[in-house]
Amino acid sequence: MPELPEVETIRRSLAPLLIDDVVRAVPLLEPHAVAEPGPDAIVALLPGRRVIAVNRRAKFLVLALDRLNLVVHLRMSGRLKLVQTVEDSRYLRAQWNLESGHVLCFYDVRRFGRIWLADDARLAELFAPLGPEPFDPALTADSLQRRLEQRTAPLKSLLLNQHFLAGLGNIYVDEVLHVCNLHPRRQANSLEIGETSGLLDAIRSILRNAIANGGTTFDAVYSDAAGKPGRHREHLAVYGRTGEPCLACGTPIQRIVVAQRGTHICPRCQH
Ligand SMILES: [Zn+2]
Repeated sequence: MPELPEVETIRRSLAPLLIDDVVRAVPLLEPHAVAEPGPDAIVALLPGRRVIAVNRRAKFLVLALDRLNLVVHLRMSGRLKLVQTVEDSRYLRAQWNLESGHVLCFYDVRRFGRIWLADDARLAELFAPLGPEPFDPALTADSLQRRLEQRTAPLKSLLLNQHFLAGLGNIYVDEVLHVCNLHPRRQANSLEIGETSGLLDAIRSILRNAIANGGTTFDAVYSDAAGKPGRHREHLAVYGRTGEPCLACGTPIQRIVVAQRGTHICPRCQH
């Protein structure tokens, strides 16, 4: 499932090609892919609108158009691709034709991805429950510590919770907790300020590296808007490395279940 680095990579690959282009038509939009306001409204409201910016909030991609925002969440298996010629595919769920001749295609094998069209007020409402962005300068070790102190959840489930912190998913939470030697079952309010500071540094450095590597591609599910896979997989320290030696101490990486999610740890380094 695409997490912050993958959505950010898609954003960066789309922005220079989409900005200033104009939507000409929406020839395909499967109704089940639309969260709101309904497929007919999207088909009617989009043509003629110019792309002003391509933004990201949490794992949502936001195309800012004249007075409206087209929002896409890729969920498990969604992909966005900008092409000249549309390839026939039964997984093509939506298609936006642009004045330049480019076509923005939304593919989704598992059909969990969703599309919204929202004005700025509705967009603010949609995003209001989300936690802070990891790179928000207002998020400091002190402010994170105060929020952790109020929570008894295990770190793994809290860091996956988009209302607590936006953008992380299963891969990067495992990587972050390993790099700062924290066990995923550690209760959030048991962290000392030094550990919280290390946690925030790890979140930022891992996300920064993953973005620099164009994200992580597993099972060819994710690629950027030009179809290029991410290169971060070879840099993963625990995720998907069950039984292989910990890069820090050599102990075999274990797969356990925390918060109903497969979780990868070094049983020696993390406590
Ligand atoms: Zn280790």
